[in-house]
Amino acid sequence: MAFPWNDVTWVLLDMDGTLLDKHFDDYFWETLVPEEYARRQGLDLALARDLVFARYQREEGTLNWTDIDFWSRELELDIPALKEGIRHLIEVHPDTEDFLKFLRLKEKRVALVTNAHYKTLSLKMNHTGLLGYFDEVISSFDLGNPKEDIRFWEILHDRLGFDPRHALLVDDNADALASARSFGIKYPYFKAKSSSRQDAESHPEFPSIESFYELTE
Ligand SMILES: [Mg+2]
Repeated sequence: MAFPWNDVTWVLLDMDGTLLDKHFDDYFWETLVPEEYARRQGLDLALARDLVFARYQREEGTLNWTDIDFWSRELELDIPALKEGIRHLIEVHPDTEDFLKFLRLKEKRVALVTNAHYKTLSLKMNHTGLLGYFDEVISSFDLGNPKEDIRFWEILHDRLGFDPRHALLVDDNADALASARSFGIKYPYFKAKSSSRQDAESHPEFPSIESFYELTE
């Protein structure tokens, strides 16, 4: 069945994993940061990974999770500089630009909604050149709550004045989709193919798409 575009005014899009290849973030946090941490602390890599991963786990679902200044302090590493050093690895998913052009053509209001820290956000927007496709760019740091918290959607609603009954959200984070659905967003869609290096994994609770072409064809 074709997607009901006539019923949608606002399109809310997550960045990492949804529009951009999550491989960059996975490589950064799972490989590069533990390596640098091991080097800095003079630790064995396996031990460094365990320590770093345990710290990640503690912060999951909070604003600290994506706060690169927090991680710089926590791990005593210059996280923004490390990211900058691998910026050439930032990739846009192959279906993204066609979809953003499609939304322009359909005259939808388009907002980027991300938990990414504003430094990460600006690095990625500068590198990919996607900024011009969005009417609004919202980082959860501006709103004081991550997308997993219903407050994010309440404050976003106050800011943008969108009607959740006519809004589509595409995200690869099921917890963010769940809180958006609780708020009343009618079309919460799961992006099942978030990394070029991993198989697509659909979600049992939400309509899942591997590619944006499934919404436009
Ligand atoms: Mg994401």
